[in-house]
Amino acid sequence: MIKFSPKEIFYEDASLSYPLGKFLQNKYNNVPWTKIDNHNNIPFFREKSNSEFPKMKQNLIVGVRKTHKYMPNNKISDYLVPYTSSGCTASCLYCYLVCNYNKCSYLRLFVNREDMLDRLIKTSQKSTKELIFEIGSNSDLILENTITKNLEWTIENFAKYGRGQLTLPTKFDMVDPLINLNHKGKTIIRMSLNPEEIIKKVELGTSSLYKRIEAINKLSDADYPIGILLAPIILVDNFESIYSEFITKLKNSLSKKVIDTMSIEIIFMTYSYIHRKINEEAFKNVPDLYNKNIMTSRGLGKYRYKSDIRNYATKFIKEEILKNFKNANIIYIS
Ligand code: SF4
Repeated sequence: MIKFSPKEIFYEDASLSYPLGKFLQNKYNNVPWTKIDNHNNIPFFREKSNSEFPKMKQNLIVGVRKTHKYMPNNKISDYLVPYTSSGCTASCLYCYLVCNYNKCSYLRLFVNREDMLDRLIKTSQKSTKELIFEIGSNSDLILENTITKNLEWTIENFAKYGRGQLTLPTKFDMVDPLINLNHKGKTIIRMSLNPEEIIKKVELGTSSLYKRIEAINKLSDADYPIGILLAPIILVDNFESIYSEFITKLKNSLSKKVIDTMSIEIIFMTYSYIHRKINEEAFKNVPDLYNKNIMTSRGLGKYRYKSDIRNYATKFIKEEILKNFKNANIIYIS
């Protein structure tokens, strides 16, 4: 179980007029609170060097979300929904939320949750068909829930009043508060999985593989619709034996109910010059995930695996999955 205790809280004044803002003020009354004008632009953070990245992740930002635009999506959901948080306290070396050097991947909590859920429920009710809303693309809501209880509140209210389904991915195991909720099968939880040696070296500050498997088994027993993400696939040396062993391990430790019902997403790692700079300067003894022999540029300092390498790896991973899970429901590979 990962427990987050912030060192300092940066807050927008308006956030304290919301019930959740007051709850947080009371919960963290033993740490310093510093007022900021705008959660999107905090000069104190902008001045910091890359080497301070892990330290900055120990802070918490509390604000009011102003952007509510739903983005159409055609992978696992109909829409990506900006929801109650963005960023995260963990430090996966490839995290796609590391967007602009070290300025915006720390955990931000948005206290106007009633507005956001209300909009979600209304949109779901107005639609002519049942929609799936991805609410966890900007943060990890299982982690956030340990601080705010927002996910518990969302699952129960959406079950009562919403139409269609919510979905969210996670790399954390703190699911016990969700187990006895009356979710009515309207929230899909997708567990992101990787071999333990990759989790330990690359997904810093997240739950272990064992804990993640235990959590997804529990959620499935509690009748949540579930999925797994093999994500991101990282083509380290001897990746074949590492991933082959990993997929066999999944077969032996996921419950029968999970295996029979899970959807599978496969996502290859992308990387960037920005990640490299931060990781080099902020962390000691972490692997360099950039490998010029197998990666190519896709513009703007971003890298992905070369097509022939990726095609080979895709075939390999797919075969391993089908060898272990005969009726595997692979939704997409990207
Ligand atoms: S857990 Fe998810 S959001 Fe958090 S650092 Fe890792 S990839 Fe990013």
